[in-house]
Amino acid sequence: MFSASAWENYRAIEQPTGCALGFYLGLRYEDGFRLRNGFKKEAADVKRALITGITGQDGAYLAQFLLRKGYEVYGVVRRSSASDVMDAKLRWLGVEKDVRFVDGNLIDLSSLIRVIREVKPDEIYNLAAQSFVKSSWNQPLLTGTVTGLGAATVLEAMRLEAAGARFYQASSSEMYGMAQEPVQTEKTPFYPRSPYAIAKVYAHWMTVNYRESYKLHTTSGILFNHESPLRGLEFVTRKVTHAVAQIKLGVAEKLALGNVHAKRDWGHAKDYVEAMWMMLQQDEADDYLIATGRTTSVEDMCKMAFKYVGLNAEDYVVVDKHFLRPAEVDLLQGNPAKAKVKLGWRAKTSLEDLIEEMVEADLKRVRAQLS
Ligand code: NDP
Ligand code: GDP
Repeated sequence: MFSASAWENYRAIEQPTGCALGFYLGLRYEDGFRLRNGFKKEAADVKRALITGITGQDGAYLAQFLLRKGYEVYGVVRRSSASDVMDAKLRWLGVEKDVRFVDGNLIDLSSLIRVIREVKPDEIYNLAAQSFVKSSWNQPLLTGTVTGLGAATVLEAMRLEAAGARFYQASSSEMYGMAQEPVQTEKTPFYPRSPYAIAKVYAHWMTVNYRESYKLHTTSGILFNHESPLRGLEFVTRKVTHAVAQIKLGVAEKLALGNVHAKRDWGHAKDYVEAMWMMLQQDEADDYLIATGRTTSVEDMCKMAFKYVGLNAEDYVVVDKHFLRPAEVDLLQGNPAKAKVKLGWRAKTSLEDLIEEMVEADLKRVRAQLS
């Protein structure tokens, strides 16, 4: 797989730091030296961001956003046998060569201490998680360990190695669960309804606690569902837009869904990563809710997607109880007033435009697979 000289370079990078992925992902040799000798800043005024979850949807959009702002962007990547495709989302956005990958895992405190010591980040965005709610019933302990304790692990590594950095925690509207108010705000009490949401509540309160206990700049962004062409196929919007593309192009006949009456407040991931950055530019750390303020049922979102390609959802959608959950979150609708006033943030993309972009991207992908 490696040429002789490439193999030597690979070893040069891998041995001192354990960062085998660095070369494998196509980093230049000089990056190997950077990995060996500690990262040298390219200019004194250039800010450094460290992103966990860089290979996910938000990690990719946030990396693109920060690179455009002139940041040096470092992404934590966990060892995987699928390392040849791990940068697929970054590649979709054309930024895979500009991100510097570092080897670490949220369940390994020593790896995060080493990464933070070497990178010396100004801002840390903790986006890594087992993020799929339905899987959290099948893997409750893993979800608690990565999604919950993992955040505490990053916080602890930051406290020890970069106490002056600013920290963002990817909190979730799922924490509201059985929503105690019809429209949720930062003050609405949490009532989590899944192992995922419970892990997120723990991570949220640890973020608040590190702010209050150690005076660290730690912020929790309570983000409502946000989607894009880079959303995982298991999430309902992407499942729908992908199925719409397959049905339109004649490679699928039906779409099986679970609870189509659930309502979500869906926005575009690229708008939401901007909010993450805005939060960390504030002098005082705080918690912010990020949402569009509009809620839509799965059924209506589905109709929207089918209608875009000239089809009727009723002709193709079937309900399959396999996709129902042990406990459901029926309604989420956020009030982003605080983010609007304090950050100057607002959602820019309508659900119609989001679904159109996702269907177009899936049509392109399915056509490419067929050709
Ligand atoms: P994704 O599922 O797309 O990405 C999750 C990321 O976490 C991947 O990069 C994954 O890496 C990484 N990861 C998982 N386990 C570990 C681990 N043990 N060590 C290091 N990295 C790990 O999520 P999104 O981008 O959609 O979401 C980003 C964050 O925001 C998540 O924390 C999510 O829970 C939260 N959130 C998301 C919302 C949404 O609507 N998208 C709403 C509210 C909160 P790998 O590629 O190796 O699997
Ligand atoms: P979540 O809000 O983080 O759980 O995001 P999802 O996209 O996974 O689910 C949003 C809502 O769609 C939930 O209420 C699900 O129960 C509902 N839903 C209905 N059918 C499906 C399905 O087939 N897959 C998924 N993922 N969700 C579905």
